Amino acid sequence: MKLGIQEVINWLEKTNEKIQKNKEYLTSLDQAIGDGDHGINMSRGFQEVIGKITSTSYNSLADLLKDVAMTLLSKVGGASGPLYGTAFLKMSMSVKGKEAVDKQALENALEDALNGILQRGKAQLGDKTLVDVWTPVVEFFKNHKVIESPSLEEVSRNAMESTKEVMAKKGRAAYLKERSIGHLDPGSVSSYYLFASLAEAIKE
Ligand code: ADP
Ligand code: MG
Ligand code: MG
Repeated sequence: MKLGIQEVINWLEKTNEKIQKNKEYLTSLDQAIGDGDHGINMSRGFQEVIGKITSTSYNSLADLLKDVAMTLLSKVGGASGPLYGTAFLKMSMSVKGKEAVDKQALENALEDALNGILQRGKAQLGDKTLVDVWTPVVEFFKNHKVIESPSLEEVSRNAMESTKEVMAKKGRAAYLKERSIGHLDPGSVSSYYLFASLAEAIKE
């Protein structure tokens, strides 16, 4: 596996396509247990990301990922903007000096991103947040020498689906307590799009 600048742009374009296609769906999930803006937040943020990275020429992966982070931090409000922004900023720092990432470097970058999300949001595994998707994905990387695309997609999908039956302990959904049970976590669904797109990008 090797992801360079073009492959990372491809990853983000695929993510953007899924987010734009499912904007209403993400919003409806957030209407059930939040304030109904997750689709709008993610759609605006990734539209801006794609605009920025396709109109800039990069010769470093770190610069590309830093622009993604800064765009998400400045254009996406709510909880998700700072969290995804932090994730990409940590990835940018993690790949500094590299022209491309191999499996190990990608694993390190994703782990650093997850740690950034944990530090910023203070959520734990099982709190019904996007941490519930990022954690098993990082574990999957750590436990496998070779990353097969269908397995990566499956791990992130199962993790996303597992948020349905748990009670929210962080974020707006936590105010609903037991009433948050039975609904998917919106941020876990957008994180699933990110990792399903990564699975597609590494396959190509
Ligand atoms: P807001 O809730 O501020 O309107 P969004 O709707 O864009 O922001 O994003 C909500 C998502 O953010 C949730 O579904 C959850 O996955 C994630 N989230 C919220 N709070 C936290 C937190 N403290 N740690 C990790 N993820 C969180
Ligand atoms: Mg919201
Ligand atoms: Mg909001």
